[in-house]
Amino acid sequence: MKKGELVYEGKAKQVYLTDNPDEVLVWFKDDATAFNGEKKGTIQSKGIMNNAISSFFFELLSSKGVSTHFIRKIDERSMLVRRLSIVPIEVVVRNISAGSLAKRLGWEEGRKLPHPVVELYYKDDALGDPLINRSHVKALGIATPEQLNTLEDTALKVNEILMEFLAAKNLLLVDFKLEFGTHRGEILLGDEISPDTCRFWDAMTNEKLDKDRFRRDMGDVEAAYQEILKRVGGELVCSR
Ligand code: UDP
Repeated sequence: MKKGELVYEGKAKQVYLTDNPDEVLVWFKDDATAFNGEKKGTIQSKGIMNNAISSFFFELLSSKGVSTHFIRKIDERSMLVRRLSIVPIEVVVRNISAGSLAKRLGWEEGRKLPHPVVELYYKDDALGDPLINRSHVKALGIATPEQLNTLEDTALKVNEILMEFLAAKNLLLVDFKLEFGTHRGEILLGDEISPDTCRFWDAMTNEKLDKDRFRRDMGDVEAAYQEILKRVGGELVCSR
């Protein structure tokens, strides 16, 4: 596998071509941003931890029948994935009130929701990723109703799998964000699944073990990511 030209650079990852046009290499950076890029910083070794955690979760989800872009972990900071044409919708699933939902509904953080709540956000930095609904998706023409059903059904299935797994590790899955894309006509789960994109709380103490520690200047950010990696049991070394 040859690492080719850099084709995309986001806030937390770089994407490189490979010698196979169907596959790209995702390289995880230590850079951290919040509030649509207004807050910038570095979390030491975040790229290594998020690659390990994401690789672990993608393997877990694949083993339970979720179709993902993940092929394999290549080295400390990179994973090989199927090349996707991204669907510009961020799908958020929530089990416990936090962040923007707490503000929108006027609920205190930590209140359990009666059922998982699914939200859609239009992935557009210039607009600040606004909350949208099914009707907006249709008007924008960014996904068919069938594709949107697949996105929502898959997001709820991922929620079930991750919640069950994390409960055994004494972790609460408060909420998380997923991104999807199409590959040869099929919808696949893409992006990453890490403390950058999920809220994880210790089940006993409600201690935050995710990017909120960076967003809210709470300190011990690296230690929180390390704790998640340790509990998840992902490996820091490359798998092959
Ligand atoms: N999230 C994300 N990227 C974003 C916005 C949100 O990964 O651009 C994740 C976030 O980590 C949390 C969930 O989606 O797990 C819900 O985030 P929320 O809407 O509460 O926004 P926030 O408070 O993070 O701004």
